[in-house]
Amino acid sequence: MLIFNTQNELVSHLTSISNEATSIGFVPTMGALHEGHLSLLKEALLHNPVVVISIFVNPTQFNNADDLAKYPRTLEADVAKIKTVSDTIVVYAPSVDDIYEGKTVSEHFDFDGLEHQMEGQFRPGHFDGVGTIVKRLFEIVKPTNAYFGEKDFQQLQIVKKMVAKLKLPVKVIGCPIFREPNGLAMSSRNERLTTEERAEAAIIFKTLSEAKIRFHVQSAEEVTEFVTEIFQKTTPFELEYFTIADEETLLPCTTKNNTKKYRAFIAVFVNNVRLIDTISLN
Ligand code: AMP
Repeated sequence: MLIFNTQNELVSHLTSISNEATSIGFVPTMGALHEGHLSLLKEALLHNPVVVISIFVNPTQFNNADDLAKYPRTLEADVAKIKTVSDTIVVYAPSVDDIYEGKTVSEHFDFDGLEHQMEGQFRPGHFDGVGTIVKRLFEIVKPTNAYFGEKDFQQLQIVKKMVAKLKLPVKVIGCPIFREPNGLAMSSRNERLTTEERAEAAIIFKTLSEAKIRFHVQSAEEVTEFVTEIFQKTTPFELEYFTIADEETLLPCTTKNNTKKYRAFIAVFVNNVRLIDTISLN
């Protein structure tokens, strides 16, 4: 399997094996790979003769230095997992310098307000960091199709918005959330939970599923009260936010409109580990 640490090596390899007509599928990740990431790779392999995965813990999207320092970095194990999917996948695992060339700062983006909701409120600067790295990686890899998980639904909408606004020549494809058997959304951060916390974290998806049922007959406000009460009773889980929002605009739902699609979004701390999840409500 080919692993490149510099953009120059990656680009010259891609140029040697593809031409303008070759479809390149791309899966950007921060590593510590799990079945969720692998499901994106499998989807990419179905539709593209060339598939590239990037593994890069992007410093500019972390607003919390401790979270960045503790983010798991497991390149060797990641490569072994990628091989189980296919050894034709091209890995790009750059250094911070290879990407940022000495200037580790974000560009500023206007995502028409999508960036101010939910994760944007609680993680200042996060989406400027996401926009910066995704744009940079798109410039390097020049993918035809790029695959993102619906687990980070706000990020998916923001990347779609960036591609539309900057007219980037790439199709952004959203893929379903891969879950552990108890319903917990797979996440690299799950590795930082104890065995008990990981089992108890099933409460997150269980509550989202209950919220979905209630939303058929209750208002967004009533459902939000129900979820807030659940987490008040459930230590060590601490609710950061629960929001029911319009899938397109990500604006909070005040009164239900039958023509709109809604989604519930949640962020929860388990001790110091921050977990997010989302569910479609229609
Ligand atoms: P990350 O490494 O956490 O930045 O994630 C890289 C990509 O994998 C993003 O597009 C995520 O949305 C996606 N992803 C992460 N967890 C899951 C999951 N449980 N199911 C599907 N996709 C996921």
